Amino acid sequence: MVQLVEKLAAEQSLTHEELVRLIRDRDDATARLLAQKAADRRRGYYGDRVILRGLIEFTSFCKNDCYYCGLRRSNRKLSRYRLTGEQILAQCGKGYALGFRSFVLQGGEDPGYSPRSIAQVVSAIKDRWPDTAVTLSAGERSRDTYRLWRDAGADRYLLREETADRDHYGTLHPGDMSYENRIRCLYDLKELGYQVGCGFMVGSPGQGTEQIVRDLELIRLFQPHMVGIGPFIPQKDTPFAGEGTGSAGLTCYLLSIIRLLVPKAMIPATTALNTVHPQGRAWGLRSGANVCMPDLSPVQVRGQYAIYDRKLCTGLEAAEEVEALKEQIRSLGLLPDMGRGDHIDLR
Ligand code: SAM
Ligand code: SF4
Repeated sequence: MVQLVEKLAAEQSLTHEELVRLIRDRDDATARLLAQKAADRRRGYYGDRVILRGLIEFTSFCKNDCYYCGLRRSNRKLSRYRLTGEQILAQCGKGYALGFRSFVLQGGEDPGYSPRSIAQVVSAIKDRWPDTAVTLSAGERSRDTYRLWRDAGADRYLLREETADRDHYGTLHPGDMSYENRIRCLYDLKELGYQVGCGFMVGSPGQGTEQIVRDLELIRLFQPHMVGIGPFIPQKDTPFAGEGTGSAGLTCYLLSIIRLLVPKAMIPATTALNTVHPQGRAWGLRSGANVCMPDLSPVQVRGQYAIYDRKLCTGLEAAEEVEALKEQIRSLGLLPDMGRGDHIDLR
């Protein structure tokens, strides 16, 4: 195992069989070694900085029906909300006053906004606060829509592939969604000049070592600017309500591997990780993550963005508590950074 870790750190790649072995035979000693190598590698590119981004969950409506997600259209139990452009701008204003210079606008694929209305929100943010970066995460769209948003000033786009195994993709999504389109989106986004993030849930139903390795291989091939991974957490009103929760330990182990595969990537310690483990954020940051995204949505709607059960949106997950979050980051020997947080090649 030590040799595998050394090889991964030196060459930024392993063969398929080696990755399978590294994951299948994982143990605590290997996890510690991987985390140390990953933290060293992060330090080499980004110093001790941890980037803080304000996450605005702008709509809980979604036209899709992903089996794992509480926002799926068939979930009639969820009370839905949609922020107006003015409300989104107001949240950015609050975030700006708190010091945030990087905003992430995430939501379901909501037909209630036209592509043009989202473009208007992005350009309004850029007009008012030109020193900020805007990340969109609004699902699968046409190349033209992605171009419109990019022209409006969007800097980045998050779209997890969810799984790089076509058959597994088919068990997580209904037939009106396809793996091909997901991948088409990722390549369109990259060609349009976005900083692009992909990623997957750890422990999603039907995921085994083979599926994880395919995701890692996709990440290595695609060379994303950002990688988001977090544990799968069941949501009570979805078809996967009775499934098991993804493991924090495996998530952090994979965070370290991903840091070594794509060393310059921006990698968040996600809210999902912190939801499944009380020390999830600290563990993720020690394992090679370098981003935190506290919740900057209006307080009154936070509970309604119920993608999974018991999702945290208070305490250090809340943007208003950013000073306490900074304190935690410092206590880990790291430096909170509220700047734009660009990928190192784009600075
Ligand atoms: N609709 C956009 C999309 O699907 O890309 C963005 C919003 S979606 C809620 C953001 C991410 O939440 C998804 O990429 C998925 O990985 C994650 N997610 C959804 N349901 C989840 C669950 N039950 N547990 C953990 N993560 C989940
Ligand atoms: Fe919609 Fe995204 Fe949830 Fe799928 S994961 S149902 S696209 S919000």
